[in-house]
Amino acid sequence: MGRILNAKFDSTCKKCGLTWSEGEKIYYQKDPKALCKELKCFIGQGGFVETKPEVVQKRTIEERMAETTKAIQFAIEKYEVVALKFDGKLEPKDGIVFIESIVKTLVGSR
Ligand SMILES: [Zn+2]
Repeated sequence: MGRILNAKFDSTCKKCGLTWSEGEKIYYQKDPKALCKELKCFIGQGGFVETKPEVVQKRTIEERMAETTKAIQFAIEKYEVVALKFDGKLEPKDGIVFIESIVKTLVGSR
């Protein structure tokens, strides 16, 4: 298994000719030997490196609000169905709790 490290000295890839300077990030693997600044070339030499998963893009506040609005609309629709079944015996505060719990389930945990 290879890894990414900082080059200890200026060097050149024996395969693709790419050069790098001391301190630059390079891919290095001992066995089978693979060394390059370019990931593609490194892999081409039989290198393998565990790449970090892409950082999940944080959603903007607008996206979150749009999602929440949709969730609230959905919750109200569901509440109306439930309220009909209870034939008006639900208190308004029950509705708030109902809607809140659905919205939390839909958008709260992320
Ligand atoms: Zn190379």
